[in-house]
Amino acid sequence: MWLDTVVTQMLSDILKMGDWVDDAECRGHPLEWWFPLEFNKQSSNIKTAKMICGRCKVRDQCLEYAMSYPQGYLILPGIWGGMTEAQRRQLHSDRYWADVDAKKLSETIPHGTRNGYLQERSRGLDHCAECLEANSAKSRANRSNP
Ligand code: SF4
Ligand SMILES: [Zn+2]
Repeated sequence: MWLDTVVTQMLSDILKMGDWVDDAECRGHPLEWWFPLEFNKQSSNIKTAKMICGRCKVRDQCLEYAMSYPQGYLILPGIWGGMTEAQRRQLHSDRYWADVDAKKLSETIPHGTRNGYLQERSRGLDHCAECLEANSAKSRANRSNP
């Protein structure tokens, strides 16, 4: 059954979390502080859990474990690395767009084209003569073909 497979996979992944769990600050505290049944941001349990995460020395490993699980498309419930599901969802999105921006910046500017001109402008660069000319030519063409 599908759910059995998912649950088995989750359990096996959680068992493979790594040695860092030995240093988890949450060990010995009630599990429901990190996995509240009724998720409510105002809950004092969540605040307590986040406070404990704040002083946990394996916080980064914990957060990255949750962020990578499984390959990032399923958000693990509860608090991991001091972050709620919603916060980790936002972090996924922020990281995704940061990657897109970094990729754009590493692309070569197609000089001598209008696209090159636009890219130079959006990156705050000086225009090269070829891009200036390509942009003017495009504007002239647009004016003559209304
Ligand atoms: S960051 Fe929080 S949830 Fe993660 S191991 Fe530490 S105390 Fe536990
Ligand atoms: Zn150029």
